[in-house]
Amino acid sequence: MKYPVPPTVVSLDDILPDEPLLMMGAGPVPIPHKVAYANSLVINHLGDTMNRVVEQVKAMSRYVFQTESGHVMGVAGPASAAMEMAIANLVEPGTKVLSICNGLFSRRLAEMAARVGGEVVRLDVPEKQSARPEMVEAMLKTGGFGVLTVVQGETSNTVWNRDLIEICRLGKQYGCLNVVDAVCTLSTMEMEMDEWGVDALITGGQKGLSSIPGVSLIAFSEDSWARLEKRNAPMAHWCLDARLADQFWNKHAYHYTAPVSGILALHEALRLICDETLPSRFRRHAACSMALQGGIEAMGLDLLIPSASRLPSVVGITVPDGVSADKVRHVMSQVHKVEISGAFGLNILRIGQMGEQSRTHNIFRTLHALGTAMRAAGGKVDLPAGMAELERVLASRG
Ligand SMILES: *Cc1c(COP(=O)(O)O)cnc(C)c1O
Repeated sequence: MKYPVPPTVVSLDDILPDEPLLMMGAGPVPIPHKVAYANSLVINHLGDTMNRVVEQVKAMSRYVFQTESGHVMGVAGPASAAMEMAIANLVEPGTKVLSICNGLFSRRLAEMAARVGGEVVRLDVPEKQSARPEMVEAMLKTGGFGVLTVVQGETSNTVWNRDLIEICRLGKQYGCLNVVDAVCTLSTMEMEMDEWGVDALITGGQKGLSSIPGVSLIAFSEDSWARLEKRNAPMAHWCLDARLADQFWNKHAYHYTAPVSGILALHEALRLICDETLPSRFRRHAACSMALQGGIEAMGLDLLIPSASRLPSVVGITVPDGVSADKVRHVMSQVHKVEISGAFGLNILRIGQMGEQSRTHNIFRTLHALGTAMRAAGGKVDLPAGMAELERVLASRG
């Protein structure tokens, strides 16, 4: 034996905090008990039990995506794997791709398209703004685009592309397949895949759906399925080949061993959404996000994005000069056991309003922790005014 001594490690009990932190950042988000329990099970990945689970996952996904597509599937991997699956199957070397870029995640789609040989043209949207349909149309008019990529919500800087319906309509008009990332928004706000003309819709587990990270969902429209069935270039990615994945998701045959525990977890997350129904779920998310935003402003803090292009599912807060966002987060997690997010490089804080995060008890605790931690970090805030506004908005929205 060349390495006879095993490493010295501690048990998870010594690593994890005594009390789990309340996950109020930009994802992953808290998961319901039913989801956690389902995630602890292992079953055969093929066979009658799994087939029933898969059929239900597809049926529930169709409701959540608002589609009748026959090509809904799970992906073993992060939401980025589902993004890559959409791109790798629909973009061939030389395909002209219009990528609407608002920030990190939308640029990731552009990067993925370039890596598979797409001829990518980026439309860089000015900071803090939604993409405007006129700008999109001006680009599309230059001609020849086969794929358009866009995010519904840009989690990295909390911008919402509120004209998504119009953008997708334009994409269709100019002959594009519309690839839409709804990772942080799906099931928190309106999304109608068929009605809006979305050709590949992507979501992850750990955000709006309140499931675990690492198992994602994707749906292809009939148009995009027809395009990928006719593609000339070979698919470089074996795991992400949609036609191979279809073997498992539509024919109950082996592709790779499905992440059974994660799919069971997703089943439960989707079932809870169906129980709640989408309209009630949208109302709950809107009420909680508006109340939280109101509370933050009433406390004397500024929101990062003007209301016209502000994403409700992740709320960005400008950290006052002289206050360190890292210090605020440190106090929140150490003292209040609440975890929120910073940002990649900017002095801002982000609080998620996705799935289980949008519960009144969670936003009260989070706003209180934020206010106290701001004070501890040297910021001036009116905490009682913030808490009162949170309560007032919630009460006014029933
Ligand atoms: C989180 C996120 C992703 C990436 O998800 P991973 O699971 O980390 O790959 C992509 N797009 C958006 C909009 C997101 O919020």
